[in-house]
Amino acid sequence: MHSILVNDLQIIIASLVFAALSAYNFFAFSEFSNHNKIDEINFIDNIILFSMLWIINSIFIVLTFLYRSVLINEYIFFIVFILSLIVAITILIASINFIKNKKLKAFPFLPVAIIYILSSIFVVLVKVPIHLIFDITLYMYITASIIYVIFAFRFRKIRIQIGLIYNIGGIITIFFVNILESLLGSYAVSTIYIALSVFLNVGFFLFYCELYFMDIKEKINNIEYKNQQLTTAKKQIQKLAFYDPITLLKNVYTLKEDLKSNQDNFNYVMIVNIENFKSYNNLIGYEKGNYILEEVASNLKSLLSGEEEIYRFHSDKFIILINNNEIYVLNLINRIISLFNTNLFSNVSLNPYIGVSQLTQSKDFNSIIRELELTSQYVKKRRLSYCFYNDFFFDDFKYKLMLETDLRSAVIQKPWLLHLQPQISFKDNKIIGAEMLIRWKNNDTYISPETFIPIAEELGLINEIGDSIIETAFLYLRQLNDLGYDKINISINLSPYQLMAKKFTENIMIKAKKFSIKPENVTFEITESSLIHNIEKVNRIMSELQDMGFYFSLDDFGKGYSSLFYFTNLNLDEVKFDKTFTHSLPHNEKNLILLNSLTEMCRKLNVKIVIEGIENEEQYSCFKRMNCDYYQGYYFSKPISIDEFIDLLKQSN
Ligand code: C2E
Ligand code: MG
Ligand code: MG
Repeated sequence: MHSILVNDLQIIIASLVFAALSAYNFFAFSEFSNHNKIDEINFIDNIILFSMLWIINSIFIVLTFLYRSVLINEYIFFIVFILSLIVAITILIASINFIKNKKLKAFPFLPVAIIYILSSIFVVLVKVPIHLIFDITLYMYITASIIYVIFAFRFRKIRIQIGLIYNIGGIITIFFVNILESLLGSYAVSTIYIALSVFLNVGFFLFYCELYFMDIKEKINNIEYKNQQLTTAKKQIQKLAFYDPITLLKNVYTLKEDLKSNQDNFNYVMIVNIENFKSYNNLIGYEKGNYILEEVASNLKSLLSGEEEIYRFHSDKFIILINNNEIYVLNLINRIISLFNTNLFSNVSLNPYIGVSQLTQSKDFNSIIRELELTSQYVKKRRLSYCFYNDFFFDDFKYKLMLETDLRSAVIQKPWLLHLQPQISFKDNKIIGAEMLIRWKNNDTYISPETFIPIAEELGLINEIGDSIIETAFLYLRQLNDLGYDKINISINLSPYQLMAKKFTENIMIKAKKFSIKPENVTFEITESSLIHNIEKVNRIMSELQDMGFYFSLDDFGKGYSSLFYFTNLNLDEVKFDKTFTHSLPHNEKNLILLNSLTEMCRKLNVKIVIEGIENEEQYSCFKRMNCDYYQGYYFSKPISIDEFIDLLKQSN
């Protein structure tokens, strides 16, 4: 036993601290293995192996001190030594297992384990003097360091670097011990050695702590960041679910929910549509379109008091729930209309059309929306600016639906009649031809072509209908030609969709051949609406057919927004003045002046003028005086059957 007890106590305390630190490092390392950044397969297993080696190492050192301090005898030393050997063998088996299972990460520990085992066996078998253990440990550290250096360069993994630091630390320590031992004597050196080992372990301890807390901090930061992201995402989802992302107004879903829970609180619902917004959108681009919608939304919102709720329904439709009386609603409509009248949205002038419906408890979401849509359609069609819902809109809607069904079967059965309305020359009052007008009697009621032709266009049935009209027109011409009327012209109304259809020209050519008709006996009537579609294409088709000998007439001139543009851009053979224009004369002086100059212009451009809808002597004389070419109208004859037309031809000529 040594005389200086304090030293022994020092050694025991230091050893315990050392062992505690080692144990802590073991746990710290296992914990650390959860570190996401060095998330490797079986990292945790490797760490356990590594830490176990470390513990053995620590036991070695502790044993050495205890032995040197003569606190344990040689047998206990060997027993503990053999126990560590067993642990080392276990590690070896585990390492081999890892390698077998291709968990190559365990590989660096295999040589280390082997060195430990071999050196332990060597110590036991050769009964190495205890002072040599230091040297053995030194070699062990050196060998392990070399292995770690190789792997540190190869894999650049943090655990290998840690191993390297640890081993180099070991080497330095032993060197110090050796030098100091010769300088200071064994007890002092032991104390220094322990201090250094403790220092080394404390270093590691702090290093792990740092890593550990860094990891925790990072994890916390990560969690905070993810939480933040989650909250933002949640907010966004909520916004997307309940709000419209462009205008930031509430969306349809919210409208539905609000109506479900709060319908009693509102007594009117209003829809504000923007006229032709889709066309603007195509013209100016979606981004600018969206910007306009934003502007409209915020302006509309500024008109409302806190009592109303506004929603973006669909693209260019806004819905407002109102809790007020009819006078207030009318006032709001006026304010909305004047908002659009006095404001440009991104330099674009927009027109609203508004539908209003009364909210009652019995109406569900779908019927409310249907009422608003029907009212909107009514307002748009009649070119009004607003309207309150009326039940007859729904009857109209049902009627249209019914008509659609009937029209589909009519296309197959072709129940229509094709009437001819004579066209007369002002010059000699002779019939020069006729316009083909379709007649459809459905369930004993006459349906105007102005009603069903647009529906047929909408349903894509117009080409089939148009085809049979052309075929009948050519058949009539054949009949007339056969009767000797070979100068008679037939005018055929064309829908813009027919003109746009594939192989329209070829189709006409085939039919003309089939009935051996002369193209110069046929005039195709087109309206301005055909030209809006694609003027270049219309022009091309017109030219193809005109080259074959067919004529083209611009129908309904003076009805809508007629433009002189078509006179210069299309090669027209004829222009037909609409009956609304006809009926304005002779009393509308401005129209009279207009007609005067138009006839002058047409004459110069070699375009024939047909006046439509002449109903009386007064109109007849007026247009005759104006030197117009031809006319048609009830004054001479209503549209009649082919047989009646032939009779009329026979009588008049
Ligand atoms: P539209 O081509 O301008 O036809 C002239 C319309 O005026 C015809 O009406 C005709 O019956 C009517 N009308 C003729 N004379 C007078 C008159 O003196 N006074 C009045 N108030 N009206 C007169 P309808 O037959 O009802 O046709 C209306 C429109 O339907 C036509 O206008 C045309 O756009 C379209 N349509 C008629 N038949 C066909 C067709 O076979 N194919 C195509 N695509 N459209 C057709
Ligand atoms: Mg016509
Ligand atoms: Mg017309």
